[in-house]
Amino acid sequence: MDRKCAEEGCGRPAAVELHLPWADNRLVCAAHGRVLGREDGVVADPVGDGSSLLENGEDGE
Ligand SMILES: [Zn+2]
Repeated sequence: MDRKCAEEGCGRPAAVELHLPWADNRLVCAAHGRVLGREDGVVADPVGDGSSLLENGEDGE
């Protein structure tokens, strides 16, 4: 259940699942989801696992 953003160098918790036409689905944080979600054909799905963005964490840096 320790899902992190898949983008390199980003350690934020994953908040969005991106459905990429050219690759496998990817879990990314909210910020990356917003950026990548604007690409053509990409669908961004919020990850509905009950963990909110404001929740602080289970992964102590
Ligand atoms: Zn990220």
